[in-house]
Amino acid sequence: MKMMEEKLKIDKISKGTVIDHIDAGYALTILNLTGLDESKNLITIGVNVSSKKYQTKDIIKIENVFLNETQMQQISILSPNANISLIENFKVIEKKKVKLPRTIKKLILCVNQTCISNSEKEPIDSEFTVLEEKPLKIQCIYCERIYKLEEIVFTSIEKKEKILKQRIRL
Ligand SMILES: [Zn+2]
Repeated sequence: MKMMEEKLKIDKISKGTVIDHIDAGYALTILNLTGLDESKNLITIGVNVSSKKYQTKDIIKIENVFLNETQMQQISILSPNANISLIENFKVIEKKKVKLPRTIKKLILCVNQTCISNSEKEPIDSEFTVLEEKPLKIQCIYCERIYKLEEIVFTSIEKKEKILKQRIRL
């Protein structure tokens, strides 16, 4: 059994991206939010994989796909400890750590209806200041409302034809 587990963990992809050290339980939310779940490429997901560093973690491997900046930021909001590895010819050619920015622009909606970011006539891009990274706490720079991770409503930029708002479920 132990050997089977090890094999599953190191199963390699020839080209693409490995997102490792995702907080346990967040892999599916990340796939959905980043739009990667609509990819036609092979995706391997490990949920609650045992880890030395953190007790359990999730892993996503996607063939032939490299992440863009928006997707990296979305991952950093949900899972600030995640590592990204870019793979070519079965080898890691680059390793990146996602980095939660000091301010998060456009990716999150302020649900306060009276907030000027929701103004019907002249809507402006949302902007939040990160107050605390883990557990996440952010504040709308316009109406100063504070949100915890489980209260966040994301703007789904990748899914243009689908519903633009979605609430994550934890
Ligand atoms: Zn606001």
